[in-house]
Amino acid sequence: MRPLLGEEEALAAAEAVRSGWVAQGPRVREFEEAFAASVGASHGVAVSSCTTGLHLAVHVLGIGPGDEVVVPSLSFIATANSVRYTGATPVFADVEPGTGNLSASTVEPVLTGRTRAVMVVHQAGVPADVDAIKALCAPRGIAVIEDAACAAGSTYKGAPVGTNAVLAAWSFHPRKLLTTGEGGMVTTDDPEWAARLRRLREHGMNFSAADRHNGGSAVIEQYLETAFNYRMTDIQAAVGLVQLSKLDAIIARRRELAARYHEVLAGLGLETVRDPEHGTTNYQSFWVWLPEGAPDRREVLAGLAERGVSARRGIMASHLEPAYSGHGSAELPVTEAFTARTLILPLFHDMTESEQDQVVSALSATLHTSRLTVRG
Ligand SMILES: *Cc1c(COP(=O)(O)O)cnc(C)c1O
Repeated sequence: MRPLLGEEEALAAAEAVRSGWVAQGPRVREFEEAFAASVGASHGVAVSSCTTGLHLAVHVLGIGPGDEVVVPSLSFIATANSVRYTGATPVFADVEPGTGNLSASTVEPVLTGRTRAVMVVHQAGVPADVDAIKALCAPRGIAVIEDAACAAGSTYKGAPVGTNAVLAAWSFHPRKLLTTGEGGMVTTDDPEWAARLRRLREHGMNFSAADRHNGGSAVIEQYLETAFNYRMTDIQAAVGLVQLSKLDAIIARRRELAARYHEVLAGLGLETVRDPEHGTTNYQSFWVWLPEGAPDRREVLAGLAERGVSARRGIMASHLEPAYSGHGSAELPVTEAFTARTLILPLFHDMTESEQDQVVSALSATLHTSRLTVRG
């Protein structure tokens, strides 16, 4: 991944600096409104990262010690960690091999009387079938939170991912499609949650610093509950506003490059990430499954690196990390196969077709040579 950043972002950041208002202020408010509208949500609450946004989403539901939240292990570790921050227990569920996402049938077996929420991840930008999971959870009074870190601009049943989300959290880390350096957002249609999320990200204050500044007369704020400092800065929001205006073009280019990958990789017999039946992916990550009999992903990554191609391991499995040793979980066979056998190939806005061809020939050469070695 290479973020698409230009002069416009640099100028917008400079303007925020020159304005003298650099912490959370008018640009954050403007970015919240524009971003929420773009994902079909009524309210956006900007935060310092998707991780802190997920933490607030779990917290605002009143979830804590003794409660369980179902999460995929096959995700960036922040998904599971955000549950632990509240004292609740993340419970790992397996994923579907075609999408890398939770589904109603992988979630159902791990629900217990203590399950308070399911955190569905739209992994690598591929939309999860949220309606089916909501249909499973609603009669049991279980909330569905969406980890939409990767999914800005992906679609589900013809609408942007985020439309009708109970609570969704987004990331603006440079590894995602839109970046503010670091940053995140929580979106929701519920005005009361939105108001509380605004307080929770800002020390529990009943008047934000920006509101006090604009209020004119002296306002003495109150601190209504113990909360956090999870604010975004106006410098970040200024960059985010410019980035948001490029989202459609970014996705169009990624989908064009992905279509080309599909065409050329089919010849190598590789299974790749694709649009699921119920939506479209923004191709935040382009993953491929290594074929049967292919060598270890480490060996393939090394072979690619030797040929000047910087690929990455596939999506991690949180339950295999030391931070979760002894945590315990159901069997997660698809998750373990997925993490062991997938790689993420380079895909970025300015990538040329000849760079893409270089990736494909490096991959082909690596698989071919290693196979010869393996077969001896
Ligand atoms: C990147 C990512 C996060 C964390 O986002 P930050 O903004 O870096 O905190 C959480 N969940 C998933 C699925 C991610 O890909």
